[in-house]
Amino acid sequence: MEHIPTTMRAAVTRDWNDIHIEDVPVPALEPGDVLVQVGACGICGTDLKIVTGVYKGSWPPSLPFIQGHEWAGTVAVIGEGVTGFQVGDRVAAENHKGCGTCANCRRGRYNLCEVARSKGKAYQLYGHSAQGAFAEYAARPAALLHKLPDAVSFEEGTIVNQGALGLHAIRRCRIEHGDTVAVIGPGLIGLITVQLAKAVGATRVIVAGRGPRLELARELGADYLVDISTTDTVEGIRSLTNGIGADCAFECAGAPESVVASINCVKRGGRVALVGLTGNKNVAFNTDRLALDEVDMFGVRSSPNAYPELINLIAAGKVNVRKLVSRIYPLERITEAFEAFRDREGGVIRMVIKF
Ligand SMILES: [Zn+2]
Ligand SMILES: [Zn+2]
Repeated sequence: MEHIPTTMRAAVTRDWNDIHIEDVPVPALEPGDVLVQVGACGICGTDLKIVTGVYKGSWPPSLPFIQGHEWAGTVAVIGEGVTGFQVGDRVAAENHKGCGTCANCRRGRYNLCEVARSKGKAYQLYGHSAQGAFAEYAARPAALLHKLPDAVSFEEGTIVNQGALGLHAIRRCRIEHGDTVAVIGPGLIGLITVQLAKAVGATRVIVAGRGPRLELARELGADYLVDISTTDTVEGIRSLTNGIGADCAFECAGAPESVVASINCVKRGGRVALVGLTGNKNVAFNTDRLALDEVDMFGVRSSPNAYPELINLIAAGKVNVRKLVSRIYPLERITEAFEAFRDREGGVIRMVIKF
């Protein structure tokens, strides 16, 4: 076994909007844990919010804190009682650790663990409420780790987290062969959802958005584009479906107006997945539309039980995540990476810190 140091370099959020690169202790292992040498960790839109302190008190509970929750690496130390992993295994990590005993956890819905909002360690959301992976090492319960085949790089591995969210959304809406799917918001999750919808049998995928990401959507499999800088989202989607509407819409923009558009662009009996977050905004829409047209709406949170299948889809080339990694930075330049991502420099989709 390689020598494991006692300290590691980490990006420590010392104060709001103030990240320092520091030497901190390598995390200690509890029984059932694995120590992973982080290979790469992506910067998520949520990281940009966490660092400003908008969720202070819960994400993170207190400062200083190490963020980072979209990552992959190499198993370095196997903790007590862990089976199924070996030192040197390449892995991607989930964030949600459910308590394992509440009714939702027992049903496999550990993303909705019933003790998540109580204090204590039974439930953890790594990178949000528990230490993340903008660091050389991270300790995680073995149950949160999934092996990555050699064909999937660590940079690609950082997209598994969001990719699995997309897969969870696809499952929630039960996309079927022949479905017409609308994706509103061609950001990272939207561009993954386009590919997943095609992979599970949707025949027509319409993407509504603006800017260079629209063309990327086409490259990644979108059949029709609606440029919302010139065309109304709902009208655009309806005119591409003979006025009927899509079977299913994925709201991936997190904007109140696109939530409304997602409801109004599906056909009678259609389905809507809310994948984006508006940031606690209230959205006004006509609920009769839901009732009289029996439109089903699905909330989508995280990625329960979705990592293995998503990893297989990436390894098989069914989902291209390479094009979604826009830039790679070393840990020392993380603040610069945060700023460039916040400003969407050059239309970047995902920034990745590589170790
Ligand atoms: Zn994230
Ligand atoms: Zn639970």
